[in-house]
Amino acid sequence: MVMDNIYKFNEHITKKDRETLLKQTGSVFWLMGLSGSGKSTIASEVQKILHMQGKLVYLLDGDNIRSGINSDLSFSIEDRIENIRRIAHIAKLMSDMGGIVLVSFITPLEQMRKIAENILNETYHLIFIDATLDKCIKRDTKGLYKRAIKGEIKDFTGISSPFEEPINYNLRLNTTNTDVIQCTKNLIEYILKIQQRGS
Ligand code: ADP
Repeated sequence: MVMDNIYKFNEHITKKDRETLLKQTGSVFWLMGLSGSGKSTIASEVQKILHMQGKLVYLLDGDNIRSGINSDLSFSIEDRIENIRRIAHIAKLMSDMGGIVLVSFITPLEQMRKIAENILNETYHLIFIDATLDKCIKRDTKGLYKRAIKGEIKDFTGISSPFEEPINYNLRLNTTNTDVIQCTKNLIEYILKIQQRGS
């Protein structure tokens, strides 16, 4: 009996098999927006809630990507593109494993978002975390804008490096006017809808 099972599954284990095992749909929710717009805050709240609901979910962000696999990359446009390309491939493997992947990176240019979309195809969902530059400068939670404006940090998005608003996105969360709780609820609702739809 055991041998029969092994034989059956050794043929080819697919994404679908892993999704069935995990009772979820492997998918990627790519949170983009200015520094201080609220990506990390919303992503970590969403991660907590989905985990408590029994979902296998993982957050890719500066803490675990830029400090490790991408520690060789700077913030030049060229390196930012490579940063996004690698993150998209990592997210692809994790979603192929059946995971719900949250990505929290500025992803400032349309070109970068196209690269991510082309790597991830139908598993890719772009979530625009939208706050005005003025609002982000006022928040300045990490004091980075102050330093960038003084010229102490180079290639800082919105100050000395470009930011293009996305033309197309799957969901926009306006964090200038909407609080964290409501933004979190809206994203969870979107993710669960995609989970039910199965893509
Ligand atoms: P990012 O990851 O985009 O750089 P952070 O999540 O680190 O941004 O910081 C966003 C800051 O804005 C936090 O201090 C957070 O408490 C605050 N904030 C205010 N309103 C919101 C909101 N609706 N959504 C997310 N963050 C918000």
